[in-house]
Amino acid sequence: MNLNFSDFLYNCDSDIVCHKMLLGLKQGKTLEAAARIVMESLDGAFSVTGITGDGQFFAFKDSHGIKPLCAGHDPEGKTFAFSSETVSLDMNSFVRDFELKPGELVTVSEKGFKRTQIIENPREAYCSFEYAYFARPDSRFDGKYVYEIREDFGRNLVKEFPEIVKDSDIILSVPETGDDSAMGVHEASGLRWERASRRHRYVTERAFILLNNERYSTIDKKINILGSKVAGKRVIITEDSVVRGDTTKVIIEKLRKAGAKKVYLFVTFPRIIGPCFYGIDMSTYGQLIGSRNNPEEIAKIIGADAVCYQSLEGLIGATGQTENQLCLACVTGKYPTPCAQKMSDVMKKRFLDGYEEKNRIYESEEVQP
Ligand code: SF4
Repeated sequence: MNLNFSDFLYNCDSDIVCHKMLLGLKQGKTLEAAARIVMESLDGAFSVTGITGDGQFFAFKDSHGIKPLCAGHDPEGKTFAFSSETVSLDMNSFVRDFELKPGELVTVSEKGFKRTQIIENPREAYCSFEYAYFARPDSRFDGKYVYEIREDFGRNLVKEFPEIVKDSDIILSVPETGDDSAMGVHEASGLRWERASRRHRYVTERAFILLNNERYSTIDKKINILGSKVAGKRVIITEDSVVRGDTTKVIIEKLRKAGAKKVYLFVTFPRIIGPCFYGIDMSTYGQLIGSRNNPEEIAKIIGADAVCYQSLEGLIGATGQTENQLCLACVTGKYPTPCAQKMSDVMKKRFLDGYEEKNRIYESEEVQP
């Protein structure tokens, strides 16, 4: 076999990891050494599980630990598993053992897990957007359910915007990612949480990854408003994040049509000002409403009376992590890895200079760092 695998096909990004591992192993390196090559040579987020040709089951994360990956075993202690979230361990009646550390390689034998720290990295960077949007609420990070953290986000928003709470009659959530924070807002404010927006059970597309023309009709079909519950009311909507603003705009239009007197938006994830290079589909500055507008301008665009973002401090505090353990790049502009920072700086300059971003600019040949 060709030792360089020069005919290797790159059909998806995990092929790059696979190729590097194969090269290392075929050159006689150990699994540890092959994993180190991947960790040291790739800038980005990856959580890898695999089985070598001789049957060695293994898993590792990138050296910043950007995405979740945990390990667990079945009740008899005979079967071992890795999962991106604890929920899939729960659903298979497995016990969660631990979250993999950044830069750690874990192998499995009949005796259980063997953990080897391949790379020491003082800067962890766990994706903070997981807490607000991406993770399932019934998953646990560091022993705490994600839904509990989202409830805390809601409580924080009440503390941070008391005047808005005073000027409101009811809370509404954008189902379903706004539900847990709505509970927190309800508990901290005493306002009634009115379940007056309902999601169509069979429209399951994630609106924010659809093309423009599909997105509007999908959102319209996806969310229905119980008109008589909001007519004449001053409403707080809780939302996990505002990316393009399209979803929220449509919901606010529907609320206005149903007779809502005022519509305030409580957003648990701080204003997204930059793209993500680590796996979330927010790839250009142009598509992000928060990259070029402040909260007042965003309120005008989406038709809200006010848009209230949870503070960065509130978000960090509720996660139980420190700022130095989290990736907050899309809300601060400070990327934890050098290549991402460089791409972001180039893209931002071009964006501010009026360059029209047509697609994922980091995939286009003209802007390779
Ligand atoms: S840039 Fe934002 S979405 Fe991407 S990994 Fe960092 S925190 Fe998560």
